[in-house]
Amino acid sequence: MTRVDWQQEAEKRKDELLAAVREFLQIKSVLDPTTARDGAPFGEGIRQALDYVLTVCKEAGMTVKDVGGYAAHAELGEGEELIGILSHVDVVPEGDGWSSPPYAAEIVDGKIVARGAIDDKGPTMAAIFAAKIVKELGLPLSKRVRLIFGTDEESNWRCVRTYFQTEEMPTMGFSPDADFPLIYAEKGLTDLMLTQTAAAYAAQQITPVDRPDARLLTLSAGLRMNMVPDKAEAVLEPLSMTGQELAERFGAYVREMGLSGAADVRGGQVHVQMEGVSVHAMNPSLGVNAGTELLHFLAGLTLDERGQQFARFADRYFHRQHDGKAIGIACDDKEMGPLTLNTGIIRYEADGDAVFGVNIRYPHSQPFERWKAILEQRLAEAAFSLAVVEHLEPHRVDPQHPLITTLQRVYTEQTGQEAEIIAIGGATYGRSLDVGVAFGPLFPGRPDSAHQRDEHILVDDLIKATAIYAQAIYELAK
Ligand SMILES: [Zn+2]
Repeated sequence: MTRVDWQQEAEKRKDELLAAVREFLQIKSVLDPTTARDGAPFGEGIRQALDYVLTVCKEAGMTVKDVGGYAAHAELGEGEELIGILSHVDVVPEGDGWSSPPYAAEIVDGKIVARGAIDDKGPTMAAIFAAKIVKELGLPLSKRVRLIFGTDEESNWRCVRTYFQTEEMPTMGFSPDADFPLIYAEKGLTDLMLTQTAAAYAAQQITPVDRPDARLLTLSAGLRMNMVPDKAEAVLEPLSMTGQELAERFGAYVREMGLSGAADVRGGQVHVQMEGVSVHAMNPSLGVNAGTELLHFLAGLTLDERGQQFARFADRYFHRQHDGKAIGIACDDKEMGPLTLNTGIIRYEADGDAVFGVNIRYPHSQPFERWKAILEQRLAEAAFSLAVVEHLEPHRVDPQHPLITTLQRVYTEQTGQEAEIIAIGGATYGRSLDVGVAFGPLFPGRPDSAHQRDEHILVDDLIKATAIYAQAIYELAK
C-alpha cells in the first residue's frame, strides 16, 4: 500500500473542517437543568451539540447510537476488538471579558476563538474528521473504532457513568481532552472528611487545662477540598488574657511570619482573620493555607481543652504538611511523584463538630487501603473519624502497552518531536476508559486557554491534531 500523507489529507479537508468546527462551536452547550427533559438530561444546548456531531458522523457513513442523550457514539471498521476515542460536547459557562463573542467562533490571527475551542469541541471535530479521513481513504480495518461523545464532563461525568452501564468498554483508547504528547498515569484522588463530634470529644479522657488564655468558639476556613483556603476566621473568648492582649499577640504573629491578617475585639470576643494564597490542591505547597496558618497561631496559645486539642492536632499534622509526612503517609514515587495533602476545609464549633476536609492525591505505589489505615489510626488519637467523600483510584497504562508505543510513534512521525509520556496529579477524561490515555490536543509550549476568556485553538494545531488522530486511528485499528 502506498504511504498515506496524513497531514496532506487533513489539509485537503481544512475548509470543510473549519466550517464544521465553527458551526459546532456556535451551539452554546452549557449544562442547563432548566431545559432538561427525557433524552436531553443536561438541557437543550448540549442535546443540540450532540445531534450536530451525530449528523456529521452519519453523513460520513458511520453508524451512530444515542444513549438517552447521556452520551452517543459513531462507529466505523469491523472486527472483534474495539478502539475508543472519548471526547465531550459540553462546555463550561463563557464568563466575561472576551475580545470576540464566545459563541461566534471567529477566526482571529490564525486562531479559532470560542468557548470549547480547545476543550473539547475543537478536538472532538478533529477526531471526527480523522475518522472520516480513514473511511474516505477506504483503508482496511481489522477492528472497530468508536468515537464516544460525552455530555457532562465539565460537571459530574454522569455521561460516561450512564453510558458504560450498557455500552461496551473499548479494548483500549484515548481521549483528546488534555495535552500532547500523552498522559499515561494519573494519581489516585480522594476527598476525605475527618470529623470529631462533640460526643466523640467528650468520650475521651482529657486532662483539664489550667488557666487557659482563651476559649476557641468557632473557626472556619475554605469552601472546597481541592483548593488551598485563602481566608480563615476564628472567634475567641478571652479568659486569662484580655481581648486586647490576644489581638496584639495575633498582630505580632502575623508580622513575624510575614502573613496578612487582622484581629479586633467586639462585644467581649476576639475576631481574628487570616489571609492566605489560594492555589489548586494538586500543588498545595505553592499556596498559603490561611486555615492552618491561623491554627499554628492558636496552637501557640493555651486554649480550653477541646480548642487546644483541635489546634495542636491540626498544627502537628496539617500545618505546612503538604506531603503527609508528619501523619505518616508520605510516599515519593519515581514515576507518579509524591503523595500530596491539602487541608481545604476546616470547621470548628466549640459545642458542635470539628472537621477537616482534606484532598489527598496519591501514586499507585502507595495503595489507598494502606495509607488510609495509617491515617485512621492517627485520627483515632484525637477521636476523629474518617469518611470517604470521593475516591478515584490511580489510573495507569503500562508504558510498554501497544496503545502507548503506537501513539508515541504516531506523534513523533507527525511532529518530528520526541513523545515523552507524562504522569500527572489531576484526572483526565482518559481515565473513563479501562485502558485509556489522554492524547492531545494542547501541544507542548502552548498556553492553556481552557475554561478561560478568549479560549482558542490555533487552526494549524487543529489540522495537525486531525492528522495525528487519523494516523492513530488507522494504526490502532488496522
Ligand atoms: Zn475537557
